[in-house]
Amino acid sequence: MKSPRLTLPSGRNRRYSLIVLLGWLLFVCSALTSVFIPNTLSAAPQIILPTPPGEAWRIIQGYGCGTHNAWDRYSLDLVQVDGPTYGAPVRAAAGGEVWHWESRSGTLILNHGGFFTMYTHMQGAVDTTRGRIFEVGETLGYAGDRGSPGVPHLHFTLYTANRDGWSGKQSLPLSFAEGYELPEIGGCNQHGGTVMTAMSLQPPQINFSGPQPAQWYRGDERIVFDITWGGGGMSQRWNEEPAGDAPMFPAVIDGYAPLRDAGDGMHTLYVRAWGPDGKQTLTTYGRSGLTALRRVRRCRSTR
Ligand SMILES: [Zn+2]
Repeated sequence: MKSPRLTLPSGRNRRYSLIVLLGWLLFVCSALTSVFIPNTLSAAPQIILPTPPGEAWRIIQGYGCGTHNAWDRYSLDLVQVDGPTYGAPVRAAAGGEVWHWESRSGTLILNHGGFFTMYTHMQGAVDTTRGRIFEVGETLGYAGDRGSPGVPHLHFTLYTANRDGWSGKQSLPLSFAEGYELPEIGGCNQHGGTVMTAMSLQPPQINFSGPQPAQWYRGDERIVFDITWGGGGMSQRWNEEPAGDAPMFPAVIDGYAPLRDAGDGMHTLYVRAWGPDGKQTLTTYGRSGLTALRRVRRCRSTR
């Protein structure tokens, strides 16, 4: 049996349809992104301290030297200040799934989709099955001295890697939702000696800045916001509550909404934020009104 003949567009037509297709894709992309473009993560992803809530832990080795001098430069070694380190529960710094377990060094690695967290020297893990999901704050193992005999401590690293998860590993400076910022400050043993206490999780807080409510604007103003105690993602919407089932932008902790996108008139911006543990906060901004650019422009151009 003969196969049916396919009519292929001529070269010129093909080129033409390719251009149309590209143009259309470009239009769809810009339409989608112009609705709401959250900033990408400007710093390390927001995580919680992996140590037990309410207990003070000290950094005995910080960034940039000793055994933290390669891709894992931004690592911390932690010990408990007022109690035994050995056997203390270790918590997931963010929600994720088990990526790798190495028993020799007591290392559990969680994959958070975009970044990894690593917990080392543990005496054991709760579950080492690949793909096992740990909620943020859930106990994933117990501190120990595997791979570091006689010196129980928790080694913690947050890193990114290439798509394969193994090559191109690069640790990131840490910023904990409890309010501890640990940027690169140069030198050896950075932040060594710092004592940090993990807290129980609390609902996210949304902080706004930008155009003031009850005022008309003609410029290209944006309502800017950032979320503390976030990390579980966020959704935003003009004049309506965004759905509460799932965040539009997972893992995002800051963003902005250009007034332009809301169109003419007075508008209210709704932002819903998710904490790393799924706790939610819904906040509004500009309730008494904001205006978009177009009305002003149109009035001007009217003769
Ligand atoms: Zn270490």
